[in-house]
Parts: sequence; structure tokens; C-alpha cells
Amino acid sequence: MRNALVTGGSRGIGRAISLTLARQGFHIIINYKSNKLEAENTRKLVEEIGSTAEIMQFDVASKTDVESKLEAWKKNNEGEYIEALVNNAGIRKDGLLVFMTDEDWSDVLNTNLNGFFFTTRYLIKDMMTNKFGRIVNVVSLSGIKGLPGQTNYSAAKAAVIGATKALGQEVARKKITVNAVAPGFISTDMTEDLEEKDFKAIIPMKRFGKPEEVSEVVGFLVSDKATYITGEVISVNGGLYT
Ligand code: NAP
Repeated sequence: MRNALVTGGSRGIGRAISLTLARQGFHIIINYKSNKLEAENTRKLVEEIGSTAEIMQFDVASKTDVESKLEAWKKNNEGEYIEALVNNAGIRKDGLLVFMTDEDWSDVLNTNLNGFFFTTRYLIKDMMTNKFGRIVNVVSLSGIKGLPGQTNYSAAKAAVIGATKALGQEVARKKITVNAVAPGFISTDMTEDLEEKDFKAIIPMKRFGKPEEVSEVVGFLVSDKATYITGEVISVNGGLYT
């Protein structure tokens, strides 16, 4: 059994990634924070494809939560390890920096950046022991270009991009690749407050992307077709200048 953990797999891009990796033959561990119903729906969709899945609740921003849930999984699945990790869970809390509350700053950093750190640090040990692993971090155009109104989110995603490049070099010898995928505007719950038509002028492809257009790139990076790519950031943004 090849196991893949998708954080934030209950909805949006994470759900699409869960389905793409299921088609590639992985058993999917679908992490979610609070939306158990949608996590169960992702599990059902994975099973319809003919693969297997389980749901796993934890808050990526909580070290104790991350470590205790993953420790419990290890105990229940002796001899197995999670060889593919997709750090996808993320939130945004936009606002101009001059008005930004401490909470909006730290919530976004804790989820998008510390979530990557806690989950990756725990799982990479087994990848190193097994001398194989795949880590894909879902970052953002915002972390490459910087978007006004998103200093917290841009800072968190840019930090994950830096970590991707550094970690890729640390573990390359162990046949572990670490890459990032940077979506532009993708139609999910996260962007439901944005009017697609308002962005047509700036997106060369004149539309928002679909979650599947991101998940197929993640699937490629996890697959055996991407054995010599590490520390890389691939944009999926319909041609937006980055
Ligand atoms: P979404 O539809 O809002 O879904 C967010 C997912 O993350 C949900 O599964 C949610 O779980 C989970 N999550 C949030 N906080 C969590 C936490 N503390 N612990 C565990 N899970 C948590 O978002 P999306 O658009 O699919 O975004 C997925 C990733 O892509 C994010 O990292 C986001 O920053 C990035 N991204 C999105 C866009 C875009 O345009 N949509 C663009 C660039 C980058 P629950 O269901 O339990 O709440």
C-alpha cells in the first residue's frame, strides 16, 4: 500500500489532489480541520474511483494535534509509512497591513507556514529511513509576486517557497523530492467572494482555474515521471505575470 496524506483534503484543491493521487493508486489520508462531512464526501469520491481512503482530523497549526494523530496512525499501520505528503491546508485573512490585527497575522502564518513545518518534520523521518518520499507544497502566486491586502498570506507562502528550496537540497540524496505548486485564482470556497469577471482583464486566459488543473501538476510531481525535479516552484495561473 502506498500512502499519501493530503492536508486540507476535504474541499477545493485538496479534494482534487486526493482524487488525482487516488487515480495514481495511492491510499489517501484525507486531513481536515472541522468539515467532517466534506472530508467523508472526498473519501466516498476516492472509493468511487476504486481506491481506498480514510479521514484524519487535525489542525495543521497545532504541533501536538499533528504529532499525536500521525503517531496514532503509525501505531495502527505497523510497517507502513506515508511516502507522499501534500501540504495543501491553507487560509487567507486579507486586509491592509496598516489595519491588520495580531490575530489575522498569526492565524495565517500558523496555518500556512507552521502547518507545513509540523507535518513535514514529523513525516520526513520515515521518508529518510525508507530512502524515498515526495513532498508537494501548495503555495500561491501571492507568495511569488506579493499581492496588496495579503501581506500575511504573501509572507507565509513566500516562506514556504524558501523552505521548499532549502529542504529539497537537504534530502535530495535520500531520493526525497520537495516541490511547490503555485496556483493563481482557482474556483474554490476560498475565492467565492471574488467576482471572476472582475479579474478577466488581468488573467491572460480570461478565467479562473479549476482545482483539477492544479491537482494534475501535483500528481505529476508525486509520480515516477518527476524523479529529477526538486526545489522547484511550478505556477498554475493562466498566464498571470509572476
Ligand atoms: P478551501 O476551498 O478554502 O479549502 C481549504 C482546505 O484547508 C479545507 O479542506 C480546510 O479544511 C483545510 N484547512 C484550513 N485550515 C486548516 C487547518 N488549520 N488544519 C487542517 N486543515 C485546514 O481552499 P482552496 O482554495 O482549496 O486552497 C487550498 C490551498 O491552495 C491553500 O493552501 C491555498 O492557500 C492555496 N491556494 C488557493 C488558491 C485559490 O485561488 N483557491 C490560490 C492560490 C493558492 P475544512 O474543510 O475542515 O475547513
